[in-house]
Amino acid sequence: MLLKGKVCIVTGAAGEKGIGLRTARLFYEHGASIVISDINEAACEKVRSEFDADRSMVVTGNVVSRDDCFSLAKAVMEKFGRIDVLVNNAGITQPVKFEEITPEDYDRILDVNLRGMMYMSQAVVPHMKQGGAGSIINTSSVSAQRGGGIFGGPHYSAAKAGMLGLGKAMARELGASGIRVNSVTPGLIATDITAGKLDDQMKAKILEGIPLARLGGPADVANAFLFLASDLSSYMTGTTLDVNGGMHIH
Ligand code: NAD
Repeated sequence: MLLKGKVCIVTGAAGEKGIGLRTARLFYEHGASIVISDINEAACEKVRSEFDADRSMVVTGNVVSRDDCFSLAKAVMEKFGRIDVLVNNAGITQPVKFEEITPEDYDRILDVNLRGMMYMSQAVVPHMKQGGAGSIINTSSVSAQRGGGIFGGPHYSAAKAGMLGLGKAMARELGASGIRVNSVTPGLIATDITAGKLDDQMKAKILEGIPLARLGGPADVANAFLFLASDLSSYMTGTTLDVNGGMHIH
């Protein structure tokens, strides 16, 4: 039980096959009260009954809306009276080439991944400061480090790299308040983002570049989040943790 009594918010956490829901389930198993937030209302409805109502909250919301983010933090404080962990996990990608990126694409991808991280973090930080501690974890991507994963366009790489910079700056500023800020850079993880987009030939080619010779699963990333959320990582802030099977070693 690494998170007993902690209140943990995970954004983008209602998708059945996603990293976010796997994380919420793992945190719940470790004794946390979990707050699942997602823009997908139908998916939120589906997961609502899975958890004990006393130890969970499921809220439909958009991380690009500052109002939604602050309302969520307020509702969590009203129900649980504290916020210990935020996992900024909501994200979208788009596999397009550099010259094809439209202004609308750029705004959409940067907004959900990067602006969403900032708004949601701004919403929880005052409450973490009040509690004297907190852990914020950001879901970046190997795409930020190597200039593209497999499915993300250049604007996705830029957004995910921006998350690393924002996370490091937050770590410097918020450390004195007891708030740790770390990022995780997953490689290729089998979720809805990748579902149906890989034929056997593509998969074999990708696996040649992964020393551990398999795609990642949502649990691989959730386990890293658990480490960063818990006191096991109490002296870590401003770090980037690779969860990529060795796809990118640097
Ligand atoms: P996913 O599509 O299952 O999860 C993303 C979730 O975010 C969805 O449930 C979606 O409804 C939600 N979401 C989208 N826009 C939102 C918004 N504006 N506000 C709130 N929620 C919103 O895919 P996943 O693979 O589980 O992705 C989780 C995170 O991991 C993302 O940030 C993604 O960029 C990152 N990531 C994934 C991979 C991979 O290979 N799957 C690799 C590196 C990083």
